[in-house]
Amino acid sequence: MPASSSRSPSAAPLAPNAVIGIVGGGQLGRMSAVAAAKLGFRAHILTQDPHGPAAQVAHQVTLGAYDDHKALDAFARAVDVITFEFENISADALDCLAQHCPVRPSGAILRTSQDRLAEKTFLSDADIPLAPWMAVTDHASLHAAAETLGFPFILKTTRNGYDGKGQARVYEASQLEAAFASLAPHPLVAEGMVDFACEISVMVVRGTDGTTRCFAPGLNYHRDGILDLTLAPAPVQEETAQRAQALATAIAEKLDLIGILGVEMFIDRTGTLLVNEIAPRPHNSGHWTMDACPADQFDMHIRAVAGLPLPPALRHSDAVMKNLVGPDDMALWPDILATSGHIPHLYGKAEARAGRKMGHVNILFPYGSLPGALGVQDALGPLADKPETEDNDH
Ligand code: AMP
Repeated sequence: MPASSSRSPSAAPLAPNAVIGIVGGGQLGRMSAVAAAKLGFRAHILTQDPHGPAAQVAHQVTLGAYDDHKALDAFARAVDVITFEFENISADALDCLAQHCPVRPSGAILRTSQDRLAEKTFLSDADIPLAPWMAVTDHASLHAAAETLGFPFILKTTRNGYDGKGQARVYEASQLEAAFASLAPHPLVAEGMVDFACEISVMVVRGTDGTTRCFAPGLNYHRDGILDLTLAPAPVQEETAQRAQALATAIAEKLDLIGILGVEMFIDRTGTLLVNEIAPRPHNSGHWTMDACPADQFDMHIRAVAGLPLPPALRHSDAVMKNLVGPDDMALWPDILATSGHIPHLYGKAEARAGRKMGHVNILFPYGSLPGALGVQDALGPLADKPETEDNDH
């Protein structure tokens, strides 16, 4: 299709068989590569692991470290557009790749999202509601944060914090110095402790033409700091769901996003939404879309990255997503396969180490009939456990 004269070449949609470069070789890269293949594209992965989840399903692989400029250069020359599936590549490396072809989302967005201080500053400036927070650079600002936020509060590292890592809860003054010393590098972020009723997340995608689409919010339960279950749609009031989607959309627009973004939020006891974190990539809490939606989060992301139109983020079913983590969950694999209604997704990881996400299972329910906690446990069958039940009607 010839590009119209008003369009820059980078905004033209990619033609079938074009090559989508994905930085990162994990499960998000794997599922993005499969989505790319469904849309007639070829996925080319930059990874250090030739046998990892993404490399197993990709058209091509460049092996190299994310700071290896020779590998970055070779990779960028071999693809038509680049995206990333994890956030630990340096934004400088993305800028380097962007000299050769479009990088979506941009290095500037990654720079914001991978540094908690930059992220909170950006969100505050955009009038997005957050838990109260302060930068902690030294002992004086540590004590000032305790004074202002009160106990308990949470200290968090600014970088590389994921799945609850890189944070310390401070309950009283005597714990201040030890908590400060236990986290590195400094500066840190201090956050007021939110007495939340529940945690939800919204996946929002924005295309090259500025169209935004939001999936229904999902309700998330964590275990040992790792996402355990997502219920979609989150059983919250319609007005709350709409506000959550409006916030996610505002963030995507303010960032000038191209691609998908996960927005994690708390709903506090008064029903107020507070944004916790943003991640400019497909997100574990969006995996339910893979079986409950005509175009899932990975399809939407690849469409956005490739400059294709974005269909509405419809779901045809309600869904529960259960993560399979470590050897204990993998021991249930034969039972999962034998359970009617369990839709299994495995990531092809060789070793089921403790705390490692190995795959997930989706369970569908007719649209509008997501069951309550007991029904969810029942549907989980061999995977049933006892998540802390919350009053979810917010
Ligand atoms: P994070 O690393 O910021 O994603 O936090 C991991 C988890 O810690 C969240 O999913 C929450 O369960 C909890 N958490 C983080 N920040 C706060 C906060 N300000 N108040 C209460 N709980 C929090």
